[in-house]
Amino acid sequence: MELVDIGANLSHESFRADFDAVLSRARDHGVAQIVVTGASAGGSRAALELARAHPGFLFATAGVHPHHAHEVDDAAEALLRELAVAPEVRAIGETGLDYFRNFSPHAAQVAAFERQLAIAVDTGKPLFLHQRDAHADFIACLDNVRGRIGPAIVHCFTGERDELIAYLDRGFHIGITGWICDERRGQHLRDLVKLIPSDRLMIETDAPYLLPRDLHPKPSHRRNEPMYLAHVCAAVAAARGEDVGTTAASTTANARAFFTL
Ligand SMILES: [Zn+2]
Repeated sequence: MELVDIGANLSHESFRADFDAVLSRARDHGVAQIVVTGASAGGSRAALELARAHPGFLFATAGVHPHHAHEVDDAAEALLRELAVAPEVRAIGETGLDYFRNFSPHAAQVAAFERQLAIAVDTGKPLFLHQRDAHADFIACLDNVRGRIGPAIVHCFTGERDELIAYLDRGFHIGITGWICDERRGQHLRDLVKLIPSDRLMIETDAPYLLPRDLHPKPSHRRNEPMYLAHVCAAVAAARGEDVGTTAASTTANARAFFTL
């Protein structure tokens, strides 16, 4: 079984001390390739450096998370444009809108999102998208560039049915994390994941965040890492009522086609 983790924040400081061990544990648990998320200007540069150091295994995205939208000025956009054309960078993002935490004002988030959508239009690279509690504005921004962007994935989908349908109607792919393993918050996701066509579904850990809540034994630390992607895959397969090998094969094929891995 070969898996692809399409979203891992491996430039996060929590991986600094045992980075090589994290990668070898991932390999031992079937993770064949990882797309390292760029979530800030500096983090995107670091993600590219990691991809360059591990060719064929690690790849990168280049973008600024809506939490850091205030940092997307002309200089940051110029850096993102420079990173975006690197061959190891396989998507623009993560970018989008997050009105749940509101670490940046809405207007700043929309402006930063629009700048990054323009980079996706100009480079033709896929989009790695984040949305939380901002569905209407998020869709409006994306509809403004409809027909001019390449493929897009809404990563870490945790939304409601109408949001999922709106994304599927627009041809977007859907990323599912270990959120689905949460016995309290994940139940609606276990129902919705059945609605995702098998050629639109991908899986991710979002490490070091979103450690699956039902791991046995629980790791002593709270850090998530790519080795737990097999656990996410099994939860997605169970929710869809399909064999885990089927889910693994389809999500891996989708990731490889989408990110040209
Ligand atoms: Zn995200």
